[in-house]
Amino acid sequence: MAQFDPETIHDIEGVPVHSVHRHDVIIVGAGLAGMRAAVEASREYDVAVLSKVFPTRSHSGAAQGGIAGALANEEEDHWEWHMFDTIKGSDYLGDQDAIEILVKEAPVVVREFEHYGAAFSRTPDGRIAQRKFGGHTKDFGRGGPILRANYAADRTGHVLLHTLYEVCVKTGVRFYSEYYALSLIVKDNVCRGVVAWDILNGGIHVFHAKTVMFGTGGYGKLFKITSNALANTGDGLSLVLRAGLPLEDMEFVQFHPTGLYLQGILVSEAARGEGGYLVNDKGERFMERYAPDKMELAPRDLVSRSIQTEINEGRGIGGKDYVHIDLRHLGTENIMKKLPQIHELAWKFLHVDCTKDPIPIQPTAHYSMGGIPTNKDAEVLADGKEKVVTGFYAAGECACVSIHGANRLGTNSLLEASLFGRRAGKAIVRFLRETREFPALPSDAAKKAIEEVESLLSSGGSEKVGALREELQEQMMRDCGIFRTGEKLTAMLDEIHKLEERYRNIQIDDKSGTFNYDLLEAIELGHMLDFAEIVVSGAIARKESRGAHSRTDFPKRDDEKWLKHTLAWKKDGGITFDYKPVVITRFQPKERAY
Ligand SMILES: Cc1cc2nc3c(=O)[nH]c(=O)nc-3n(C[C@H](O)[C@H](O)[C@H](O)COP(=O)(O)OP(=O)(O)OC[C@H]3O[C@@H](n4cnc5c(N)ncnc54)[C@H](O)[C@@H]3O)c2cc1C
Repeated sequence: MAQFDPETIHDIEGVPVHSVHRHDVIIVGAGLAGMRAAVEASREYDVAVLSKVFPTRSHSGAAQGGIAGALANEEEDHWEWHMFDTIKGSDYLGDQDAIEILVKEAPVVVREFEHYGAAFSRTPDGRIAQRKFGGHTKDFGRGGPILRANYAADRTGHVLLHTLYEVCVKTGVRFYSEYYALSLIVKDNVCRGVVAWDILNGGIHVFHAKTVMFGTGGYGKLFKITSNALANTGDGLSLVLRAGLPLEDMEFVQFHPTGLYLQGILVSEAARGEGGYLVNDKGERFMERYAPDKMELAPRDLVSRSIQTEINEGRGIGGKDYVHIDLRHLGTENIMKKLPQIHELAWKFLHVDCTKDPIPIQPTAHYSMGGIPTNKDAEVLADGKEKVVTGFYAAGECACVSIHGANRLGTNSLLEASLFGRRAGKAIVRFLRETREFPALPSDAAKKAIEEVESLLSSGGSEKVGALREELQEQMMRDCGIFRTGEKLTAMLDEIHKLEERYRNIQIDDKSGTFNYDLLEAIELGHMLDFAEIVVSGAIARKESRGAHSRTDFPKRDDEKWLKHTLAWKKDGGITFDYKPVVITRFQPKERAY
């Protein structure tokens, strides 16, 4: 294979071009997954982390409620109970071997954070404090909600992310902040690096590596109402698709029950964990009708559907599309101690003082259960099943191990990102101990990325990025949201094709290199269109209702036909599907009631 020759990279008009960087490990993403892997690998190897935002601005830092782990600090708990809850929560689509690893290793990962210096909230006797969260129960679901979410007030993600950043600085991780990954270099099933755009100065940089790991996070920004940060556009997923690799279970998108009305900003489940009520226009605690046993602490898919049903049937507040979360009975002191951020957000964004008035909320796009298929060591699977892509790893929200199956339980995601980030780091170290050489860079390593940037910068079209994105987000919310039908989904797929057509005629006003967000937003929109097609096509294909995927035309779960994972590729302009069985070890699928 031809060695990489920097001269073969052509200039981009008016934009200073590239350099080539070499590191043993390149991690794209500075959230919990990326930085936890970096901590692990940087003890022995040269690790660089690329992030399109400053590392501590990654969305992990917005996580409020907690990180799961059966530490049993506040009451009896066992990993087997956590395992059962996660499997039932996943509507039996989660792989039970991976879930067993998650729940068994959880206490270790949480305590490690404590040893790194994370300032958790405390029990009176000084142990890590724990709170209740939806779907986490005692005694295999036979008992009530359990205290299992380890927390730092309602700023858990912030505390954990800052802690990891400090450890990374200490272990000498090299950060490339505000570098935007444009493409993945994979040849002959060997991953060789990534190509990135320097957001501050402009210019293409090639990152040549022995191993690459993606911790690129979720894609809530595909929807109009979302709890997610601006950066959550799912770039990593599209990069993987464009490298000819599959995505898994993309039709499963979690809507969190409680987003601030019209803003989508999250009111953490901790608000219900601490005892908050959901109330409709008639003043009823309507969860009584849908989950008489677990009430507000049923899992998210069920609570979101219940809220949406109340709204659809005219019992939203004043007939509008929101209901209330009422915290007043918790008392001002309790609210200010345990939920200070929620108090602040409700005040700043809606001018509601939640110690005196209920907060208007509506479901908000929150989390993607699907993603890049990996095995239990976070190695990316070329065929989605067994064959690994040499030197390529993924963990956190962008990956699908699969822990969450069709519906994630709250607090299991910070856990998954940290725990499988840690496993990725360990697997990378094992790989590097046996791999001394850098794989050769193909001579056309940066070609695709350069072509993409060049064609966008030189395009003289008439379509505005912002307008197209808004149309996509609004339509996804309407036609691929909490309740879905074949008819609406098919219309949505047509819409996506039309938007893709219009995207070819896009207009970039800013032609400069420095902080060109016009360009970046266009690239992000291209990514979202890429995998939106996979989300919607997967949802059309799956003719059942399971977890967060709720088809009113197929209202029942159908284990006979659909107890399987979806794998989807983009090939020759179309989408190819394959399926693989769910790993079931201990808990046979049962009807799911709460
Ligand atoms: C408001 C909110 C509250 C939440 N609360 C909780 C909670 O209490 N408990 C819980 O378990 N889960 C919670 N979650 C979910 C959880 O926070 C996330 O799933 C998890 O933190 C994801 O971590 P990550 O490391 O995979 O990705 P992220 O933290 O999202 O990081 C992604 C990284 O990838 C980088 N990146 C992406 N694309 C590119 C690119 N093209 N080039 C370069 N860099 C790129 C970004 O810069 C960023 O550094 C919450 C989520 C939200 C939105």
